Amino acid sequence: MTAIRRAAILKLASTAYEMDLQVMNGVVQKAANGRWHVGSHDLVEWLSQHEGEELVVVLGSLADERPVETRTCRTCGRDYMDLECPYCRANRIRLRGHA
Ligand SMILES: [Zn+2]
Repeated sequence: MTAIRRAAILKLASTAYEMDLQVMNGVVQKAANGRWHVGSHDLVEWLSQHEGEELVVVLGSLADERPVETRTCRTCGRDYMDLECPYCRANRIRLRGHA
């Protein structure tokens, strides 16, 4: 189950990256100077660049071991554990030529 959640988080991050959104990944650490980092990203610097903006911040822990809920597709009725129904996604790609 953990592998499924982990894969879903990485897929979400990949989609965000493809949308040209900022994605940070890495270990959260507090440096000796008191500044917080996510991997090589300086959080204080990043937050300063966006001061005053309305943001959506999504955090996903790769250590999260909660099971992924099975969902039922409202279009085709199949059960799936991915971010979206893989059957309907495949059909969309087949019919439109893209996702
Ligand atoms: Zn479906």
